[in-house]
Amino acid sequence: MSELKPQPTAETVDIEKTNLLGLSPVQMKEYFESIGEKSFRATQLIKWIHQQGVSSFDEMTNLSKPLREKLERLAVIRAPEVVSDHLSKDGTRKWIIRVEGGSCIEAVLIPEAGRGTLCVSSQVGCSLDCSFCSTGKQGFNRDLTSAEIIGQVWIAAKFYDSMGATQRRVITNVVMMGMGEPLMNFDNVVAAMQLMMEDNAYGLSKRRVTLSTSGVVPKLDQLADHVDVSLAISLHAAEDELRNELVPINRKYPIAKLMESAQAYIARMPDLRRKLTIEYTLIDQVNDRPEHAEKLAVLLADVPCKINLIPFNPFPLSDYKRSSGNAIKKFQDILIRSGFTATVRATRGEDINAACGQLAGAVNDLTRRSQRYRDRAESVLKVVEAPN
Ligand code: SAH
Ligand code: SF4
Repeated sequence: MSELKPQPTAETVDIEKTNLLGLSPVQMKEYFESIGEKSFRATQLIKWIHQQGVSSFDEMTNLSKPLREKLERLAVIRAPEVVSDHLSKDGTRKWIIRVEGGSCIEAVLIPEAGRGTLCVSSQVGCSLDCSFCSTGKQGFNRDLTSAEIIGQVWIAAKFYDSMGATQRRVITNVVMMGMGEPLMNFDNVVAAMQLMMEDNAYGLSKRRVTLSTSGVVPKLDQLADHVDVSLAISLHAAEDELRNELVPINRKYPIAKLMESAQAYIARMPDLRRKLTIEYTLIDQVNDRPEHAEKLAVLLADVPCKINLIPFNPFPLSDYKRSSGNAIKKFQDILIRSGFTATVRATRGEDINAACGQLAGAVNDLTRRSQRYRDRAESVLKVVEAPN
């Protein structure tokens, strides 16, 4: 006699439904095989979800009715919820997106002549606590699922579709430079990036999908086995002593190890013209003096790279200041004279707090670090509000 299994309630059925939004092309094929369907259905689903922006199986007219009903029972296509969107006077748009558990993340689209770069978050908060980063100051809550990561692209594409634009024209590049450290959420970030580059989904070229990391070396060493994308290294200092202060993970994986790993990543890529992007946030009197630029030039002398200088973006409670225009120019000139391509990133979306490193969302986390930050914020606010 077979044992009686407990009957699932309506709620457990819903919890067990598979969210198809974040499945990579390979995972989608495996899913269809696992439910006894032909694997070519995977391509049809990916096209409906990511090219057409469809989230209801009912609208998938090239699937038979029984298959649509089966999918309805077993699966969902669920994107995170948009709480609000903000348009900067320079055209930058920011979406605040609520993810399961109630925290909010942010995605930012920066339109420029002939291209649109979507800056995507990979985690709720970040555990790495770089001293100049607002996300880091919020503490860490959790990794985003692959559905929540690709969901940001899905939301932005759908938003522009609804305004009569085609997604391909609007989102031409994706950078994993929003909230979080992408290599700390490896599997989900890889699955989402595979969808970004999949022809039947967003079809972006590998040159136009960029992973930015502060240097999680063991994960960077594994990256080439999984995905071929452009790589940006958040360096910010050419010497370990200073980098230890700015980017604490440097104490674990110092500059020499990081550069070796980053170069090994691009060396394994088939395209010989590939270069690393080196990101260097310029903070007044901290890492922006001519000798810092000279040391950077020495460190990078044999590294195929371009350097992107990011003027520090201030956020409440940070004691750092942005480098002066003069210091930035001098720093750039030294690099250019040393033979590098060195650009200064235009600061975009400042009026809606959408600039690099300003993304903070609303992280429902009470790690000691974020609690300290909140306590400090509250005491500052009290001083500001105190009647005089
Ligand atoms: N965690 C990843 C990606 C997210 S941060 C990383 O650190 O690379 C994206 C970029 O913004 C990084 O280069 C980061 O160093 C930079 N950044 C963080 N805070 C900043 C700030 N306040 N001003 C300017 N750039 C900042
Ligand atoms: Fe995390 Fe990147 Fe911010 Fe550092 S700069 S705290 S790694 S998000």
